[in-house]
Amino acid sequence: MFGGMAESLRQKTGIDPEYLRSGMLVKPPFDVQAANQWCAQHDFPVEARGDDLFLPNVAQARNPRLLQALRASVESLGGRIVEHCAVNQIISDANHVKHLSTSQGDFKADTYIVTAGAWSKQLLGEQALHTDIKPIRGQMLLFKFDTPPLPHIVLQAGLYLIPRKDGHLLVGSTLEDVGFDKSTTEEVRDSLWQRATNVLPSLKDMPIIQHWAGLRPASPGNIPTIGRHPNLQNLFINSGHFRYGVTMSPASVEVLLNEMDGTPQPFDVSAYHWR
Ligand SMILES: Cc1cc2nc3c(=O)[nH]c(=O)nc-3n(C[C@H](O)[C@H](O)[C@H](O)COP(=O)(O)OP(=O)(O)OC[C@H]3O[C@@H](n4cnc5c(N)ncnc54)[C@H](O)[C@@H]3O)c2cc1C
Repeated sequence: MFGGMAESLRQKTGIDPEYLRSGMLVKPPFDVQAANQWCAQHDFPVEARGDDLFLPNVAQARNPRLLQALRASVESLGGRIVEHCAVNQIISDANHVKHLSTSQGDFKADTYIVTAGAWSKQLLGEQALHTDIKPIRGQMLLFKFDTPPLPHIVLQAGLYLIPRKDGHLLVGSTLEDVGFDKSTTEEVRDSLWQRATNVLPSLKDMPIIQHWAGLRPASPGNIPTIGRHPNLQNLFINSGHFRYGVTMSPASVEVLLNEMDGTPQPFDVSAYHWR
């Protein structure tokens, strides 16, 4: 679904999320048998290249551009985005949300959807029920070349290098259980740099142009929560996608919209339901 969504956003807004099927080269160590078995089971093309595996169908998108395009699309449809506005409390009676109490006053709507990522559980308070979403920090480095230094994404032992069309190269990432702390550390910067330069020695001559961290919304079993609150009829959630929230966004939204208007789902989505 992603390629279609990106192209439709580009046409509607003039902002190109740069969805690109660049492919991904996976370098050892990895379990060759398990990898080939997974690809065969999921009918996912794979080519052996010496000791490496190349997955030609793996794609990438420029996430900041994707968000800019989504924003322009929402606004062109008449949507209003209120920035720097913290929801402090969800005010409800026994079975309905009545309004939101926020840093910019109260907001009232027919329907509410919690999409607060790693903060969703805190925001919901006791209404979170069994939803267990917590932050896992990831740090990234950004480099800039004149032209892409790699023709495809490279993955080795959890480290990935993603070449953008304009010569930017993204290096990530870490999985750190440090709470709501978005700071970066020198230790991680050095270790990402070390590992990345082993894969691509020409990186040694390039300055790091950015180093930042984000908080992923981690869920038990990596399964996001999508659907209606068991008690509050007008409250929905779409959260807890951990490492794949961008990848899963078009499909998650379809599942959510089906839940909201009662359309039958194209497959069994009960694992995502709010409990
Ligand atoms: C280093 C790193 C690399 C990643 N790589 C990938 C990848 O390659 N592919 C992929 O698919 N995913 C990737 N992810 C994961 C992806 O970023 C997340 O799954 C996704 O952003 C989750 O989207 P979300 O909208 O649920 O939450 P978020 O993007 O976290 O957005 C939640 C928003 O809610 C706001 N908010 C929180 N509390 C409140 C409140 N009380 N009131 C108002 N607003 C509030 C926050 O400020 C934030 O803007 C990566 C994440 C990191 C950190």
